[in-house]
Amino acid sequence: MFLRQDTRPVKVGNLTIGGSNEVIIQSMCTTKTADVKATVAEILRLEEAGCQIVRVTVNNEEAAAAIKEIKKQIHIPLVADIHFNYKLALMAIENGIDKVRINPGNIGRREKVEAVVKACKEKGIPIRIGVNAGSLEQHLLDKYGYPTPDAMVESALYHIGILEELDFHDIIVSLKASDVPMAISAYMKAAEIIKYPLHLGITEAGTLFSGTVKSAAGMGALLSAGIGSTMRISLSADPVEEVKVARELLKTFGLITNAATLISCPTCGRLDIDLFSIANEVEEYIAKVKVPIKVSVLGCAVNGPGEAKEADIGIAGARGEGLLFRYGQMIRKVPEAEMVAELKKEIDNIVKAYEET
Ligand code: SF4
Repeated sequence: MFLRQDTRPVKVGNLTIGGSNEVIIQSMCTTKTADVKATVAEILRLEEAGCQIVRVTVNNEEAAAAIKEIKKQIHIPLVADIHFNYKLALMAIENGIDKVRINPGNIGRREKVEAVVKACKEKGIPIRIGVNAGSLEQHLLDKYGYPTPDAMVESALYHIGILEELDFHDIIVSLKASDVPMAISAYMKAAEIIKYPLHLGITEAGTLFSGTVKSAAGMGALLSAGIGSTMRISLSADPVEEVKVARELLKTFGLITNAATLISCPTCGRLDIDLFSIANEVEEYIAKVKVPIKVSVLGCAVNGPGEAKEADIGIAGARGEGLLFRYGQMIRKVPEAEMVAELKKEIDNIVKAYEET
């Protein structure tokens, strides 16, 4: 079984995927790649949210040409998403792309595959093989009848075999399906036999709400089993939301070291404050925090401090006031109107202290 830390480390720009416990967060631009201004603006927003690698579609020569200028204006590795067209792959490589997502078995004649592999080798660029349950090769559909986890793994092995035959090993593999049990099974089977890092994804997962639930169910099962070196949450939403969901999911498993966690109660009849809006405001505030602190927002002082004793800092509502807690101990009372501002100040102090140590 090749768990996350056992996979072959593969360099992508200044990052290494696999071979360590860090799971890299990826997203994909929704802009036309040839529109450099819009694409760069979206990538910069993704960077700010915590995206570590970003993919753009390279579906025409204008898109491939734009890579050069986009690269100059961003700070994270850029991946070209290419289907079939080896010339676009060569152009993207020439223009400084950091990784190519292309399935070698779909490129066509052997000399075309060789040309792409040679160019990648020369520039030290990895290739991601992207198996998708919805677009399996005809010979596998003929063999299995319909997409199955075994067919997906066989597809991955088919593409890996082509690259290995050309002595190319900087490979990352994804086995995406929108059917969550199928994706989980495919990734688990792949982890048994594939030594290359796995890029996790539940494809066409849905909207912000349903896609988050489906992705968390699928990727949660895999991450908790030690599978997956990099991931993308696929949502029909602003890609910044994909990054936010990915960070939250990694926090759940203690797989991210640069993010703050919010603990908030579900509220009950004891509530005397507007906890829902406070929790949302605090969540938004700590989204930019890049240290692993825990912040709690609780409805009352009856159970709150006990429920949040793990938190570095927290607030519990009381009638007309808020109680500030640190590691479960009350440190002071503040008027209700000032409690969020006071909590933010305390968060800033903790972050500063953390950064100075
Ligand atoms: Fe209810 Fe207080 Fe617990 Fe929140 S912290 S669920 S308000 S008892």
